[in-house]
Amino acid sequence: MANTAAKAAKWVMALVRQAAVPFAKTLQDHFSHATITALCECGCNSFQCEVQERPGLTPLFEVAPVENACVELVFASDVGDPITMIVHTDPRGLLAGMDVFLGIQEPVPDDASIGDLLFISATRARADRR
Ligand SMILES: [Zn+2]
Repeated sequence: MANTAAKAAKWVMALVRQAAVPFAKTLQDHFSHATITALCECGCNSFQCEVQERPGLTPLFEVAPVENACVELVFASDVGDPITMIVHTDPRGLLAGMDVFLGIQEPVPDDASIGDLLFISATRARADRR
């Protein structure tokens, strides 16, 4: 099935709703100021975006902004294999896109949803300011 901006929003919001994702609120903030620039058409739900800079936006991750920093998250799913999401940032530390795929780079079924967080490459994840 075609990849769409609505699917990008679906996966971002799925992450935002996960209590285990330390940068959830910042991710929502970035995505609400983002323009989607590319949607992968291989069957995965990956997308690229550009966030419009404005005062008050904090970098997504704890590391100093570098080219293509990312955090990988793997979730249990209701479609068999785990679903992996890799959140990418640009050199400003702002959301640059997400890779979303099933298992090992497989297409994501339309009705898939995520369960528990199985893995997060947490060393780079910045906790939201509370
Ligand atoms: Zn793809």
